[in-house]
Amino acid sequence: MSNATAPGSGPSTPVGDVDVLVVGAGPAGSAAAAYAARAGRDVALLDMATFPRDKTCGDGLTPRAITELIELGFADFLAGRPRIIGLHLHGWGADQRVRWPGDRFADWGSAVARIEFDDELRRFAVDAGAQMVPGTKAVDVDWDGDRIGAVVVEGPEGRRTIRAQTVIVADGVRSGLGKVLGRQWHRDTAYGTAGRAYAASGCADSEWMGSHLELRAADGTLLPGYGWVFPLGGGQVNVGVGALATAKRPSHVDLRPTLRHYNEMVRAEWDITGQPQRITSALLPMGGAVSGVAGRNWMLIGDAAACVNPLNGEGIDYGLETARLAVGLLDDVGEDFTERWPDLLTEHYSLAFSAARRLATLFTVPQVVPLLGRPGLRSGRLMSTVVRVMANLVTDEDKDVIARAWRTAGRLSVKVDERPPFR
Ligand SMILES: Cc1cc2nc3c(=O)[nH]c(=O)nc-3n(C[C@H](O)[C@H](O)[C@H](O)COP(=O)(O)OP(=O)(O)OC[C@H]3O[C@@H](n4cnc5c(N)ncnc54)[C@H](O)[C@@H]3O)c2cc1C
Repeated sequence: MSNATAPGSGPSTPVGDVDVLVVGAGPAGSAAAAYAARAGRDVALLDMATFPRDKTCGDGLTPRAITELIELGFADFLAGRPRIIGLHLHGWGADQRVRWPGDRFADWGSAVARIEFDDELRRFAVDAGAQMVPGTKAVDVDWDGDRIGAVVVEGPEGRRTIRAQTVIVADGVRSGLGKVLGRQWHRDTAYGTAGRAYAASGCADSEWMGSHLELRAADGTLLPGYGWVFPLGGGQVNVGVGALATAKRPSHVDLRPTLRHYNEMVRAEWDITGQPQRITSALLPMGGAVSGVAGRNWMLIGDAAACVNPLNGEGIDYGLETARLAVGLLDDVGEDFTERWPDLLTEHYSLAFSAARRLATLFTVPQVVPLLGRPGLRSGRLMSTVVRVMANLVTDEDKDVIARAWRTAGRLSVKVDERPPFR
């Protein structure tokens, strides 16, 4: 690399040729940059924002994310943060506390505001040797045959190009650079719309994440979604609502009033004072519902590749995992990622994502949710299963009945998919 490492949050010095250019410094991009730099590659980590920057999110780190953060070597950051032992689920006049199963994954979760989490992870990548290029947007590419020869960027130094052997695209839900490369987001399968806010709470040190499966509008109408309260410590909670939709059944949930109403619903339980602050909302591509996730020398990871669990909207873990998997492929010199990357994503996620997005599509019909939620909330054992499946805490190594049944459902689902995940 031709220039010195920029400290990160201010304007950068120009970057010359690099081995790996990572576009987007969210969890997926920063983890990819850290893995690649640690493996001895010249890495530039580009983001159009200057950090710290906010990201609309529930800020929840489930056991899958914790396991991946431990693998990355970033878990020390979580010392002194909330240590969350499970989910406290509510609905239809009942509630259940379900501990994280903790067999294959960590038995705890956490929650950290993204404005802080992402900035720390970005610094971690810089410490590993990546050069941060903040305030700089990737807008186009220069082709060299079927390879990306250089990425065209716009930043404080104006318009310029950065040449790279490999480009990892981690530019989030809308993936502007992905679009330039041919990425298409398909909304015939379930996607999410969700809103979050911060609220002052006397229960911000709770060991439980709160979740309401029975989400209602202010007029009492049952909505196809769920609500959450995630304790952040420091007297704050993240309060949010999410709704599921498909192109055929678009969401009519008005997120802001629903969020305000939900905040009132949980006010007493969470000892919330004042009004919800900093309300924002965003879309969530889910279940690998994109095609065009790779080409000769580039791969899409994280939200750009729609790696979000359709049943709970979590994507930080999949961002971290896909970062590790993508960097793992870089060792194969001369590798063509066009088929290799969607094949690898398929191998890891397609059974779970296909079954989950089918179930999520069913949940866009509000009347279906109580069919599972109501009996579940009355049986601890059934709810443990629901939580395990919803959080995708089932691995290929698990041989129990639930794991086998979930994998069979996945196989059947993929068979009848008109468009399987990542295709
Ligand atoms: C309301 C809501 C609640 C959620 N709650 C949770 C939760 O509790 N737990 C969980 O695990 N997941 C949650 N998610 C999902 C989670 O936020 C995402 O899955 C996660 O942020 C994906 O990380 P990423 O690195 O792929 O993308 P992002 O975090 O979106 O990062 C993308 C980065 O790319 C940059 N960028 C974009 N375009 C360009 C460009 N052209 N050039 C340069 N830089 C660019 C952006 O500035 C950004 O920094 C939630 C999502 C929403 C909307």
